[in-house]
Amino acid sequence: MQIQDDCVVTIHYTLTNDAGEELDSSVGSDPLVYLHGAGNIIPGLEGALAGSRAGDALDVMVQPEDAYGLVDPALIHKIPHDAFAGIERVEPGMQFQTEGPNGQIVRVTVRESDEDGVVIDANHPLAGQTLYFSVRVEDVRGATEEELAHGHAH
Ligand code: ZN
Repeated sequence: MQIQDDCVVTIHYTLTNDAGEELDSSVGSDPLVYLHGAGNIIPGLEGALAGSRAGDALDVMVQPEDAYGLVDPALIHKIPHDAFAGIERVEPGMQFQTEGPNGQIVRVTVRESDEDGVVIDANHPLAGQTLYFSVRVEDVRGATEEELAHGHAH
């Protein structure tokens, strides 16, 4: 069957960035199983998969707007070193979890660290990036009533 809304789709994928670096891959581990049309995966990939069948292989380029969004400058802040009490050395690329204004968990990445403070970025680590997916469709089936009610694959 063809991939369309309310199908449960099983894929293997490898994700690379603009520089050709591999960011993530399901190959060699469990495939990704998702409910098509429910926003379980990024819109650019979901849209590209529509109409494919089991056995199809696709190379999909996804612009940031259809992936993890553009970088929001409002989510980049400079904070004092005191905020990192107990951490010996704060270096660019380090990731921390912190609590957001509504008590939610926010992951931040350190962009810069100098004498005046530390620049942290709460954008998604893949915000602003064009993503390249190499995908193989393993299986397509109709979703169960329960899966449709829950909005995800079981
Ligand atoms: Zn469920």
